[in-house]
Amino acid sequence: MAIYPGTFDPVTLGHIDIATRALHLCDKLIIAVGDNRNKSPLFSVEERMSLIRESLQPLGIDGRIVVEYYQGLTVGFAQKKGATMIVRGLRAVTDFEWEFQLALINRKQDPEIETVCLMTSQEYSFLSASMVRELAMLGGKLDEVVPPPVADALRSKFDAKSMSADVRDV
Ligand code: ADP
Repeated sequence: MAIYPGTFDPVTLGHIDIATRALHLCDKLIIAVGDNRNKSPLFSVEERMSLIRESLQPLGIDGRIVVEYYQGLTVGFAQKKGATMIVRGLRAVTDFEWEFQLALINRKQDPEIETVCLMTSQEYSFLSASMVRELAMLGGKLDEVVPPPVADALRSKFDAKSMSADVRDV
């Protein structure tokens, strides 16, 4: 059993790629959606969780991947679930320092839980949730960066925002 923790605001094709590839290393994966208070998220925790579930459905692997919410220490959540592995994704060198620090801190909390970083697939190496949010805000094409339910949710979120801005402008 492994956990894949993150903010997933929103889930991207890069995240889905890491989660499905992690299934080669574990029988069951929990995508653990954190409530990161340092970031003010675009989507609520409930929205983020259901977007991940909807995105996984067509892949036919949702029995082996479950989506859960957690608060507090990632290691504490892994312990509670009986997970022995924390999965993270690595993109460019810029991810490395942070992920390295996190892995060492987490190992101090519980040396029995290993952090495993999977290298991004080349086509997603440039992809981040923050870039997706920016792209959606500017009305860019979303089909190659997020699963279809996420593209729909982003469009309606920003349509709703621009409509309320229009009302304010009047
Ligand atoms: P966090 O807020 O914890 O960084 P994210 O939702 O941004 O959470 O990302 C969760 C994990 O997925 C992180 O390890 C991040 O490096 C990884 N990740 C995000 N996007 C990609 C991608 N395109 N390719 C590979 N890994 C990724």
